[in-house]
Amino acid sequence: MPNIFTHEFNTPTYKGKVSFNTGLFINGEFVDGSDGTTIDVINPTDGKVITSISEGTPKDVDLAVDAAEKAFETTWGLNYPGNKRGILLNKLASLMEEHIDELGALEALDNGARLSTSRVGADVIGAIDCIRYFAGLADKISGRVIETTEERFTYTRHEPIGVIGQIIPWNFPLVMFAWKIAPAFATGNTVVLKPSEFTPLTAIRMCHLAKEAGFPPGVLNVVTGYGNTVGSAISSHMRILKVAFTGSTVVGRKIMEAAAKSNLKNVTLELGGKSPNIIFNDANLEEAVNWSMFGVFFNQGQCCIAGSRIFVQEGIYDEFLKRFTEKSRSIKIGDPFAPDTFQGPQISKIQYDRIMGYIDSGKKDGAKIHIGGERHGSEGYFIQPTIFLDTKPDMRIVKEEIFGPVSIVIKFKDEEDVVRQANDTVYGLAAAVFTKDVNRAITTAHKLKAGSVWVNCYSIMSPNVPFGGFKQSGVGREMGEYALNHYTEVKAVHVNLGMKMM
Ligand code: NAP
Ligand code: MG
Repeated sequence: MPNIFTHEFNTPTYKGKVSFNTGLFINGEFVDGSDGTTIDVINPTDGKVITSISEGTPKDVDLAVDAAEKAFETTWGLNYPGNKRGILLNKLASLMEEHIDELGALEALDNGARLSTSRVGADVIGAIDCIRYFAGLADKISGRVIETTEERFTYTRHEPIGVIGQIIPWNFPLVMFAWKIAPAFATGNTVVLKPSEFTPLTAIRMCHLAKEAGFPPGVLNVVTGYGNTVGSAISSHMRILKVAFTGSTVVGRKIMEAAAKSNLKNVTLELGGKSPNIIFNDANLEEAVNWSMFGVFFNQGQCCIAGSRIFVQEGIYDEFLKRFTEKSRSIKIGDPFAPDTFQGPQISKIQYDRIMGYIDSGKKDGAKIHIGGERHGSEGYFIQPTIFLDTKPDMRIVKEEIFGPVSIVIKFKDEEDVVRQANDTVYGLAAAVFTKDVNRAITTAHKLKAGSVWVNCYSIMSPNVPFGGFKQSGVGREMGEYALNHYTEVKAVHVNLGMKMM
C-alpha cells in the first residue's frame, strides 16, 4: 500500500498538520510503483528523512500513458470544451488558495525555500497566478479563416496534441508544476509528469487537489521516480507526442536525443543560464546593489536566471563592490521557516558538493575569494554567499552554471566591451542593465542575446509574459500566449466550394 505522509508543522511561521498518500497518481488513483520500491525524501535543512514516496518504473509510465490516452480520446481533449476546462483550472487555483499555507510549508520543508517566499512570493502565489492566467485562455483558442479564392473555404484549427510528457526540476517545484500543467490543460492535452525526486511533495499534493477539483481520471498523471528510468521512459515513449522539460542543459540534450531516436515528438526545453547583470556608471547605485543581490542570491542561487556574472563599469566599481559586499554579508542564512531568513539550504548533498567543487576550481584557477566560499553551520547543506574577483574569461566559474550562492564581479570599460563579454557564453536565458540613460538601456537590451532582459530590476516575471532561452538555454517559450503554440497542432482545412477537377 502506498505510504501516507503525516507531518505536524510547529514552526514560528506555520502551525498545522498534513496527511496525504504519496503513491503514484495514475488514472485518478494513488498506487504503488510496479516494483513496490520507494524513495526517501530528504529535508535539506537537516539532512534527515521526511517521508518516502513510491518509485515509478517505465512500466508505470506505460500505465500512465494508457490512462492519459484514454482520457484524451473520451473525456478530455476535444470532448471537453475550453470554457469548462477553464472552470476546472480555476477550481484548482481556488483549492490552492484554500491550502496556501500548507503548500508553502511543504515547499519550505522539502525544498528549503524560505517560507516567506514559498508562501507569498515566487512559489504558491506564482503558481496560482499562472493557473488562473491559462484558465482564462482556455476558451480563447481559435484558428483563422484564410482567404484563398471564392471557390475555396480555408481555415485553421488549433487542436490539442494528445499525451504530453513533462519533466521538472527541484528548484521551484510548485511553480514549475504550474507552468507545465496549466497551458497543457488549457489547450486540452493530457499529461504524464515526473517531478524531481528531491522535491516531489507539492506535485503529489496537487494531484489530491486536482482530484478534488474534479479533473477526470487520466487527465493528470504523476509518476515519481528517477530521471534515468521514469524520465527517460517519458522522453523516449512512442505514444507521448510532446515532451516539455525544465532542467539542466546536459539532460536537455538527452531529452532531445531520446525524442529524435523514438517518435520525433515535439520538444520544448527550459535549460540553464549564466546571466550577465550590467551596471553602468550612471546607475542608481543603491537600487543596483539591492537588485543585484536579489538577482544572484535569491533561492540560494538555485535560479536558472541567476545574475551570476555582475559587470560593473570602472567609474563606480569600487563603491559598488563595497556596498554589494556589505549587502551580501548581511544576508540571514538559516531555517527556512524563520521569518527573517533570506537564504536556506542548498537542495541536496550532491548540489552542495557540486557548488563547493566550483568554489575550489575558482581558487585553483587563480580567482580571488572576496567573501564567503565556506560551509555555513554544521548540519544541512548551507553555503555562505560568495563573491569572486579577478576572474578570467576561460575559468570554469565564469563559463559554467554553478547553481549556488556564488557571484563573480567583473570590471568593464564601455558599452561595446561589456556587450561582447556579456554575450560570450553558450547560454542566453536572461540579462539585466542598470542605467538612468533610456537610450543606453534600450540599445544595450537589444544587443544582449537573452530571452528576458530586465532594465533597472531583476527576476521580474508575469504569467502573461513569455519566458525561455536563446542559444543553449532552451527551445520554445513558456507562459504568455506564446506557450499555447507549443501545446497545439495547427490543422489547415481546405473546403472546395465549387472547383471542378478536369
Ligand atoms: P536536471 O538534473 O537536468 O533534472 C531535471 C529533471 O530531469 C529531473 O526530474 C531529473 O530527474 C530528470 N532527468 C535526469 N536525467 C534524465 C534523463 N536521462 N531523462 C529524462 N529525465 C531526466 O536538473 P536539476 O538539477 O533538477 O535542476 C537544475 C537545472 O534546471 C539547472 O541547470 C537550471 O538552470 C535548470 N532550470 C531551468 C529553468 C528554466 O526555465 N530555464 C528553470 C529552473 C531550472 P532526477 O532528479 O532523477 O535526475
Ligand atoms: Mg527534499
